[in-house]
Amino acid sequence: MEIKKVVPSGYCKGVVNAIKLAKDTKANNPEENVYVLGMLVHNSFVSEELSSLGIITLDDSKKSKSELLDEINDGIVIFTAHGISESIKQKAIDKGLRYVDASCVDVLKTQNVIKEYLNDGYDVIYFGKKNHPEAEAVISISDKIHLVTNEDDLRKLDITNHKVFLTNQTTMSYLELKDLIELSKKLYPDIIIEKEICNATSSRQEAIANLTDCDLLYVVGDIKSNNTNKLVDIGIKKGIKKVLLIQNFKDINTDDLKDVHKVYVTAGASTPPKLIDEVISFLKEHSSTD
Ligand code: SF4
Repeated sequence: MEIKKVVPSGYCKGVVNAIKLAKDTKANNPEENVYVLGMLVHNSFVSEELSSLGIITLDDSKKSKSELLDEINDGIVIFTAHGISESIKQKAIDKGLRYVDASCVDVLKTQNVIKEYLNDGYDVIYFGKKNHPEAEAVISISDKIHLVTNEDDLRKLDITNHKVFLTNQTTMSYLELKDLIELSKKLYPDIIIEKEICNATSSRQEAIANLTDCDLLYVVGDIKSNNTNKLVDIGIKKGIKKVLLIQNFKDINTDDLKDVHKVYVTAGASTPPKLIDEVISFLKEHSSTD
């Protein structure tokens, strides 16, 4: 069995930066409580590593960011790589907390583009994932931003404003975005479109779309990670025989390796390199004992 790592895969610059910011914040303020409002990046192994350094992650899918912030009364709060709404930032300031904003520059770029179109009187169609922190931060900007998660949502919109702008969450699938754009042009012929899939996401998706000889693709990452899930979607849509999402090497079922000649390993942008290396080592060991 041949084992190959997809290039590029794994950590992106936004994730590297967010992790460094969090670690530096704790190292420079060892006596203070340091909290992360939500998962810093969507990978539970990263949250565990931060916890081992004394950095407290507050994450509860049943609670809003505002409710999580209510639980913090001292110290420093870190906002995650996915971006944060201005109202939450202000609430932290009003509570007398210090904050560190780990928002990725690509997420901020998309927010700024949206704000420019809003200022010019546009309604904004935003293709993103419901309840995802990046999408939540964006839709909090204005009620003229309409979140659509699929083509049905887009069809149901009834925007009367003749100025309509469409953009997207940075980690969406380029294939789904393409279909959505085609439909939006039919529904709103004068629509202005700016694709905002970040370079890290698009290069990882393209690398999978270009695989021509793959029997089995392992996507290493967290189920909560949107970009990881989209790598799975792209692999399936491109007709790879078997595409499996695993959190780490312990999720590998060796029955899946039967009759496989070539296995590729990729990973989401928030997956620690160690987890990818462990998967490859496990596969190599298994292959040598065949
Ligand atoms: S996936 Fe893209 S937008 Fe998200 S943190 Fe990485 S570089 Fe930034």
